[in-house]
Amino acid sequence: MSSVMPGLMALVMFSLARGFPANIRGVGHWASGALVVSISAMLLALRGGIADWLSIVVANVGMILGTGLWLIGSQMFFGQRPARRFIALLLVVGVIAMSWMTWVHPSITGRTLCMCAILTATYGLNSLTMLRFGKGSHSATFVGSMQLLQTLATALRGITMFVPAWASTGLFAPDLIQRIYLTTGALMSLTVCVGLLFVAMDRLRNQLEQQSFMDSLTGLLNRRAFLGVHQQEREKTMRTGGLLTLLLIDLDHFKQVNDTYGHATGDRVLIDFATRVAEMLPAPHHVARWGGEEFAVLLPRATPDEAKEHAERIRQRVAQKEDAALPAYTCSIGVSCMAASEATIEQLARDADEALYRAKRSGRNCVQVSDHVILL
Ligand code: GH3
Ligand code: MG
Ligand code: MG
Repeated sequence: MSSVMPGLMALVMFSLARGFPANIRGVGHWASGALVVSISAMLLALRGGIADWLSIVVANVGMILGTGLWLIGSQMFFGQRPARRFIALLLVVGVIAMSWMTWVHPSITGRTLCMCAILTATYGLNSLTMLRFGKGSHSATFVGSMQLLQTLATALRGITMFVPAWASTGLFAPDLIQRIYLTTGALMSLTVCVGLLFVAMDRLRNQLEQQSFMDSLTGLLNRRAFLGVHQQEREKTMRTGGLLTLLLIDLDHFKQVNDTYGHATGDRVLIDFATRVAEMLPAPHHVARWGGEEFAVLLPRATPDEAKEHAERIRQRVAQKEDAALPAYTCSIGVSCMAASEATIEQLARDADEALYRAKRSGRNCVQVSDHVILL
């Protein structure tokens, strides 16, 4: 189990890692780690049947490399600096210690102690990384806890080497400690690999979910997400009996900005606008890119006067040139405000659009409020 399962999981993880977006890092290292652990466990299991240099030195150093790759993968996954030098050091120590205690000064106890110390470190650090940086993700907490169990079982095996009555005579000796160690090893290699798969899938799902709500240029909500938010706010406001306000904001002569300064500068203007508007509105508010150079703001529970004030503040702030690298630009705003019971998105948008049209006709860079105010 310790050998075959990680090998199979490695294949699954490799094929998964290939299709992952580049910003999800570390999955390839987890897969390589699982493959190396799989081969090493196989070599360990063949002790006595194959040459010692393979079943002792290569197998043990392989375990260090495999678990080290898991640790590096986890650190990369959570955006931490990978401890490559530390793992390289453990590998060098492992090669020297295993060779010395196999041929120069043979000692099963020495080898066991050395491997337990090194693996306690790699398992333990991987467990800490998962538990610390994966807070809030059930699968990361699960992997962290499993690795913690494995750390404890490995440390226990090392500590009992100091108790003469329990000291082992080898990995496959028929005593309780070795059984605990081998059983946890077998179970953990499977559960940890499956857990890591879930951690990676969780991250991918969250990322895709966020992308499906977000406008990729400005980071604001997209129109689809805005419709959902409006629905929720409307239901909430209807229960308490209040007003809903929609501001539709359109940048003035934006085609000219593109034509004069280029599309890339136009994009930067859109980002600048989005950042400034989002930071100046009171909570609760929702800002979305309605389409092109048009934006929508939903203000729950604002009165018509407050709504007009907010719109006017936005207009004035946008008209101030704050970033010397960007051209000056202005916006026109249409405001609609009505009782939540009447405020379907179609009705709000129709009224705000009509007010926006008036704002454009009356010379742009101004705010117009819809006449169609339906009060409570
Ligand atoms: P008005 O004051 O009447 O609104 O004039 P306008 O030029 O802003 O309006 P128009 O609808 O004629 O042009 C909108 C322009 O917005 C045209 C389009 O190329 C540009 N645009 C839409 N989306 C983007 C975008 O993502 N990036 C950039 N750079 N330009 C965009
Ligand atoms: Mg425009
Ligand atoms: Mg427009």
